[in-house]
Amino acid sequence: MRIVLLGAPGSGKGTQSQLLVKAFGIPQISTGDLLRDAVAKRTELGLKAKSAMDAGKLVDDATVLGMMRERLSRPDAAKGFILDGFPRNIPQAEALSKMLAEMGAPLQAVVLLNLDLGILFKRLSGRRICESCGRVFNIYTAAPAALEHCDKCGAEHRLIQRPDDKEEVIGKRLDVYEAQTKPLISFYTAAGLLRVVDADADVNAVFGNIRNAIGAAAQAPGRSPSA
Ligand code: AMP
Repeated sequence: MRIVLLGAPGSGKGTQSQLLVKAFGIPQISTGDLLRDAVAKRTELGLKAKSAMDAGKLVDDATVLGMMRERLSRPDAAKGFILDGFPRNIPQAEALSKMLAEMGAPLQAVVLLNLDLGILFKRLSGRRICESCGRVFNIYTAAPAALEHCDKCGAEHRLIQRPDDKEEVIGKRLDVYEAQTKPLISFYTAAGLLRVVDADADVNAVFGNIRNAIGAAAQAPGRSPSA
């Protein structure tokens, strides 16, 4: 299955991707995770990307597309993938459809996780991550069960906040979504690939909605949006 999870920052793309990985045995390809990893390892690409990320802006298309081309060419992507956080604008979507056409593996569905802006803001500003295992909590909606230890790995809590989840950066990220990413809704609607899912529910209910939305698409041969 080859799908894109589309949605604003905080709409649950990362969490739902992980459930899809478990259910379908295909990799999640998150440009945000790949970029954060490059920043942490201080690679040339990471150093180039860091200032845009810290400011809540998009990293330049050439950098992201080079990274994606390499990632999609790895063997595990041959059986399918879930794209999380990519594409983020029309030029990236056009480049993706070209890349996948060359690979003979067009997209089968684009799932939009639909959520109100006010809820997105709360989700992002409340997000905290266990430094040891990466478990995601939310101080407003999914607080850790114990104060001292992580529910998942048991390590003493060191909950960290992503630099771009600070309130002053969130507004910028949501503006970027509105201006640059939202036009993808029309782009993929025109291609007959868009499925809209209500993302204002608990994690398992949203996952059920996604499964229903992609049920038929998973069997389809896929489509290339005409650029
Ligand atoms: P995310 O984890 O998807 O919210 O991404 C975190 C940050 O990484 C974004 O705010 C951007 O700075 C950068 N980023 C992630 N994906 C892309 C992309 N497809 N194009 C450009 N920048 C991206």
